[in-house]
Amino acid sequence: MTATPELTTELTTDLFLGGSFVPGRAGTFTSLNPSTGAPLAEVSAASPEDVDAAVAAATAALHGDWAAVPPSGKGALIHRLADLVERDATVLANLDSLDMGVPNGLAQMLFVPNLVATLRYYAGWADKINGEQISNDGYFGRPTHAYTLRQPVGVIAAIVPWNAPLMILGWKLAPALACGNTVIVKPAEDASLSILHLARLAEEVGFPAGVVQVLPGEGTVTGAALVRHPGVHKVSFTGSTQVGREIQKVTADTFKRTTLELGGKSAQIVCADANLDAVFPSIGMGVFANSGQTCAAGSRVFVHRSLYDAVLDGLGGAAGAQVLGDPFDPTTTLGPLVNAAQRDRVLGYVAAGSAEGARLVAGGRAVGEAGFFVEPTVFAGTNEMTIAREEIFGPVATVIPFDSDEEALRLANDTAYGLAGTIYTNDLARAHALSAGLQAGAIGVNGWSPLMPQLPWGGLKASGVGRECGYDGILANTESKTVTVVL
Ligand code: NAD
Repeated sequence: MTATPELTTELTTDLFLGGSFVPGRAGTFTSLNPSTGAPLAEVSAASPEDVDAAVAAATAALHGDWAAVPPSGKGALIHRLADLVERDATVLANLDSLDMGVPNGLAQMLFVPNLVATLRYYAGWADKINGEQISNDGYFGRPTHAYTLRQPVGVIAAIVPWNAPLMILGWKLAPALACGNTVIVKPAEDASLSILHLARLAEEVGFPAGVVQVLPGEGTVTGAALVRHPGVHKVSFTGSTQVGREIQKVTADTFKRTTLELGGKSAQIVCADANLDAVFPSIGMGVFANSGQTCAAGSRVFVHRSLYDAVLDGLGGAAGAQVLGDPFDPTTTLGPLVNAAQRDRVLGYVAAGSAEGARLVAGGRAVGEAGFFVEPTVFAGTNEMTIAREEIFGPVATVIPFDSDEEALRLANDTAYGLAGTIYTNDLARAHALSAGLQAGAIGVNGWSPLMPQLPWGGLKASGVGRECGYDGILANTESKTVTVVL
């Protein structure tokens, strides 16, 4: 028997363009339910002509109706959107569970509340975006009054992945709106439905037409058209390193501001003094949450040799204790992977791990006749193996021993990526030293990947360029202009 609820809302599948819901001119694409593999919805796809129309509407709003809304008014509208997200929290969480397979509890506990928190955090910023008065040496002997203005960047394309659609969209949408920009959202093919429902809520809020638009469609068509469009001033992209690299090449042509939140291969370092009982749930979450489809997944677990066997046993046990199944069953802890290609990719990495000599401690198999489920998997391996070098984006951990803090840092930093890192220790000095030495954008000590709107988020190296959230999100969504008045 399935626990999947009947949807109490009509699915929104059309584009939200210029303040109206309209069919896309590039036809439709099919979104599957990853728990069953069955078709879930036919979603409209935006063509390059639709992108042109959206950019025109966004440009008109930027200089017209949206510019006319005072800062506190913008904040009030963003708060109103947060109110409606809270009202429709169950619908939004259900849409994500149906569309991309996240356990419904996780969607209810993290995805939706994080979106609400981000909207409210930046709603508060809307009337506090200030430049500064700047002392200076004067102009050819004359005094000056100099100051900076913080102005909107302009029309922003927000390109979103499927693994945490609402949460990641919030990190882009909320600061962009608070700073007076207009936003064209391109959801991922595998997770458009919750974001299209959010478009309904934006319509209900009454943002002026063109301020928020949602254009589902293929990345290589809709996304690519947005990225190269000369009327788009900034691309805020979250997704794979490979696509991010391509986007940065294209945006260079028009000098678009470009924020890239890309893949990761993050380290979790278990020091010799760590309290294992306290850290096991956190390590497990870092590896298995959202079936490992998490940019910050702590998929390389470095363990001091004195604790190595205990951690392998414990993590193997944690893998075995996971309950795979229907995302709507409250006992489920792990949902499916998002699609068949992702499942096959993960299984390919499992095969590569075994072929390269890693020892399989737990999991490793696809599960069930229907849907795209893979068992949580733990390998004992080395940092040189493919499973420790490439982003798997599935519930697969490689556990690697070390003998000293120096070796832990060297191994952890020996990667193409630099998104996040976790350190488990009860020694404060060690915690600070390792945090300073880890080459990553965000470090958690004794807790995997704290994600809050107040905390800047983003990566180094192949994990990306720029930061979202916190005050960094304000800086990333404004241009600084210097005005010097010669007195
Ligand atoms: P993806 O790169 O395949 O797609 C991301 C988005 O880009 C989708 O909306 C897609 O349609 C669009 N896209 C694809 N090709 C495009 C193109 N040529 N031009 C413009 N847009 C294009 O990524 P995915 O598989 O959806 O997401 C998984 C990846 O996202 C993982 O690598 C993961 O680590 C990363 N991610 C990073 C963060 C972070 O904060 N750093 C957060 C979540 C996910």
